[in-house]
Amino acid sequence: MSLDSPALAPNRGCRDTPVLKERGQREVFCGLTGIIWLHRKMQDAFFLVVGSRTCAHLLQSAAGVMIFAEPRFGTAILEEKDLAGLADANTELDREVARLLTRRPDIKQLFLVGSCPSEVIKLDLARAAERLSGLHAPHVRVYNYSGSGIETTFTQGEDACLAAMVPTLASTTARELLVVGALPDVVEDQCLSLLAQLGIGPVRMLPARRAADLPAVGPETVFALVQPFLGDTHAALIRRGARHLPAAFPFGEEGTTLWLWAVAQEFGISRDHFDAVTAAPRARAAKAVAAHAATLNGKSVFFFPDSQLEIPLARFLARECGMTPLEVGTPFLHAAITGPDLDLLPEGPVISEGQDVDRQLDRQHAAAPDLTVCGLGLANPLEAQGHTTKWAIELVFTPVHFYEQAGDLAALFSRPLRRKALLSKGVAA
Ligand code: SF4
Repeated sequence: MSLDSPALAPNRGCRDTPVLKERGQREVFCGLTGIIWLHRKMQDAFFLVVGSRTCAHLLQSAAGVMIFAEPRFGTAILEEKDLAGLADANTELDREVARLLTRRPDIKQLFLVGSCPSEVIKLDLARAAERLSGLHAPHVRVYNYSGSGIETTFTQGEDACLAAMVPTLASTTARELLVVGALPDVVEDQCLSLLAQLGIGPVRMLPARRAADLPAVGPETVFALVQPFLGDTHAALIRRGARHLPAAFPFGEEGTTLWLWAVAQEFGISRDHFDAVTAAPRARAAKAVAAHAATLNGKSVFFFPDSQLEIPLARFLARECGMTPLEVGTPFLHAAITGPDLDLLPEGPVISEGQDVDRQLDRQHAAAPDLTVCGLGLANPLEAQGHTTKWAIELVFTPVHFYEQAGDLAALFSRPLRRKALLSKGVAA
């Protein structure tokens, strides 16, 4: 088996498609939701949101049953007296942090996460993080980032978190590969195993599972992103002298192969060795995807903006599952990051950035797609109107990267169509 070159010439892709830029009412999560997966990834970190009861309720509902498992996140709730300036919010914050760190001595990294209320009252959490880092060093390092809905959309919370860590990473002159983006542990292990079999190393991860494993960064660092929503982290790493390896994202058999091949070329791995290492998992992935492509082939798909995963996922659905994307909406379009996926996405769909939800709903109704990928707030109303939907949030919470998950990724899209077919048979019977 050998590596397929992309079948489409670049001028047939979507890199040069004019982007429909929309600004209006949005139906998206704020960046606080990133805490749900980040706290599971970073096993000695705690995320302390400085916000209101609304923020606490959002986390509780987004985390579902996880809130009963003594999670490593919480909300320091700003009371009315804080908002009115009657209490010194900084003194209260210091007291809450001291209490938390005494109770949870396992915490090595503490993130003070800004919210809309803390931004609006201009609570300076960056200075608070510096002060608290000094107070609790060397045992605990305190960081700050904003997950507020005014500044961040859903997965951007992870970007803000990682970007806040980059300036504090140690310097190195070693030539290392840095893989950037939070992956579930089982997927991270698969990624590291493939890279090791290819002979690529040393490999570091950001985020690391523990503070002691945090990577160093410098002019010989090359980094590959595994998530497309890491624009600020990408910029912060480049400021530290690291070099980005642009590649399609590792979704599906083709995406994973192209991602690994971009890294392999950088490290001088021969094509023969690459093919020998990847042949078996590629074949497994292609077979697993084919089982679902039968349902998806020839169907149209419409993406509302949600996670910034939309462009690579549309590429996967178009090229490996035979779907026709009609509109691919993304909260932000970062051409340096998603360019390789845009090159591969067959021309045709509307590429939209940002949102004006009513106008987008009008376009979705007119397009009448077979499958609509959207947030939870739109899914049930659209189902009630007879549309078939896929909740976009599952794409972030489910392991979907690399070869062994390619079939599960295709299944996430085929399941709603199969369910619809089964239910309509039931109605007909
Ligand atoms: S940060 Fe803002 S958008 Fe997010 S839950 Fe709190 S108030 Fe709502």
